[in-house]
Amino acid sequence: MIKVVVVGAGGRMGRVVSRAVWQAEDMVLAGAVDVRGEGQDVGLLWGGSEVGITLQRDLEEVLHRVAPHVMVDFTTPDAVADNVKKALRNGVRAVVGTTGMSGAELEEIRALAEKQRVGCVVAPNFALGAVLLIRFAAEAAKFFPHVEIIELHHDQKLDAPSGTALKTAEVVAAARGDFRQGLPAEVEKIPGARGACFDGGIRLHSVRLPGLVAHQEVIFGGLGQTLTIRHDSLSRESFVPGVLLAIRRVMELEGLVYGLDKLVFE
Ligand code: NAP
Repeated sequence: MIKVVVVGAGGRMGRVVSRAVWQAEDMVLAGAVDVRGEGQDVGLLWGGSEVGITLQRDLEEVLHRVAPHVMVDFTTPDAVADNVKKALRNGVRAVVGTTGMSGAELEEIRALAEKQRVGCVVAPNFALGAVLLIRFAAEAAKFFPHVEIIELHHDQKLDAPSGTALKTAEVVAAARGDFRQGLPAEVEKIPGARGACFDGGIRLHSVRLPGLVAHQEVIFGGLGQTLTIRHDSLSRESFVPGVLLAIRRVMELEGLVYGLDKLVFE
């Protein structure tokens, strides 16, 4: 049985993930951490009955007391790196869904995971459809190098653009090679009208509205035609199979793996 502690367990994703861990036959939900709601039973947070696991504030204390195999983090961009470092330093593997970590933080985590010889999976999107979208986008970019990315999320999301949009832009930029799109003489009448500008002029647009979950469109423009690839996470359940896969696979890993694609396709 894989002993799992979920951090951010009181949040939108944390609730869904801790319930999924609780229900998985090969896992035990050994602890739940959140900065809010200390003492609340997580079963009640899922809208079910009590399960005897209550939210705790102090991650370090929980890691020492429970000695889990894996810590899963769905918290906030400013909290995640510290949480992951605490886990790795205590010899606990980490599965990280929280987005918005800086490149420097990611490199620090890579080095720490290697030094500690502990597995760590960081994935900006655990939905299989999103991973496939990124793969298809890389393929299409070889033939249609003019690309714009529109990501759409619920209005409580803290970081923009989304980790998935950034990863898509990275992959598209690499696939189309030395290419620059856009008009140098273009004028924005309102700053930001054309979205954020990634390498080679790829534009990223972030929509935030209540009612949305997590969606992305990649639009390719060519002579007399466009190609649109779209993925919709209609509920947070869409992330669960990817998270459970990462928990199982991180048990055999050493060092950092970035992106669910590395676990699915390689
Ligand atoms: P959320 O509802 O705000 O949940 C985050 C929870 O973590 C909140 O309860 C928050 O408390 C808590 N928290 C903040 N700092 C903490 C700390 N130091 N220790 C413990 N708990 C802490 O957010 P969400 O919608 O669940 O999203 C969480 C993250 O997952 C975001 O970065 C989001 O982009 C990402 N995400 C990733 C995927 C993926 O597939 N990789 C999918 C969906 C979402 P407060 O409210 O008091 O701050």
